[in-house]
Amino acid sequence: MDGRDKKFDLLLKTLLAWNKKFNLTAITRPEDIWLKHFDDSLALLNFYQLTNQKVIDIGSGAGFPGLPLKIACPDIKLTLVEATAKKVEFLNHVAALLAFNDVRVIHGRAEDLGHELRESFDLAVSRAVAELKILSELCLPFVKVGGQFVAYKEAKVEDEVMAAQTAIETMGGKFREIRKYNLGKNGLVRSFVVIDKIAPTPEKYPRRPGMPKKKPLQ
Ligand code: SAH
Repeated sequence: MDGRDKKFDLLLKTLLAWNKKFNLTAITRPEDIWLKHFDDSLALLNFYQLTNQKVIDIGSGAGFPGLPLKIACPDIKLTLVEATAKKVEFLNHVAALLAFNDVRVIHGRAEDLGHELRESFDLAVSRAVAELKILSELCLPFVKVGGQFVAYKEAKVEDEVMAAQTAIETMGGKFREIRKYNLGKNGLVRSFVVIDKIAPTPEKYPRRPGMPKKKPLQ
C-alpha cells in the first residue's frame, strides 16, 4: 500500500468505527464506501485539475467530497464547512489522524460563513446538500471571480439546473456545463454541474440562515 492508499484505508476504518456511535453515513459496506464515497468524490479529477487551489466543501458531512480530494491532491488548501457538531468532531479527528496540512474544519452555516469568507476560494464543491437553486446561494458567495462552483448531482439534473438560473445569475454565476460520469461498472450515472463565477456576489447574499431554503431565488 502506498501513502495514499493507507490514508484511504484509515479514513474508511475510522468512518466505520465512528458510524457505530454516530450516524455519519448510511453506506456501510467497505466496497460501497469505496465506490459511493471515495470514487464518487474523486470523479471530479477526471476533468478538473487540482494543483494548489483553495477549495471549500460546503455541507461536508463525513468529509465528502473534500477529504478524498485532499488525499489525492495533497497540495490543495481545503476548508470543510459543516453545520452539525458531531460531524465536525469527526472531521477534526480525521484531519489530525491523517496528518493533513492545510485543512481547516469550520463548524457553522454556509449562510453566515459566506460573508466572512467571501470570494476567497478558487473552487467550491458540494454534494447532497440542497437543490441547486438553494445551493447556489450557499456556495457561490465563497468563490472568487474567475473561479468555479461544482455541484455533485444525480444523473438527471437538467430540470434542476433550469430552475436554478435566477439563483445562479443573482449570485454572480454563469452556468457552464453538465458533465455526466459513470460510477463503477454497474451503470450508475452521476452529474457534475459546473458554474463559473463571473461577477461579485451582491452584499445582501447569502441571506440569513434558513432563508435560501425557505424562499429559494427563482
Ligand atoms: N456532502 C456529504 C454530506 C451530505 S449530507 C456527502 O455527500 O456525503 C448534508 C450535510 O450538509 C449535512 O451534514 C448537513 O449538516 C450539512 N448542511 C446542510 N445545510 C448546511 C448549511 N447551510 N451550512 C453548513 N452545512 C450544512
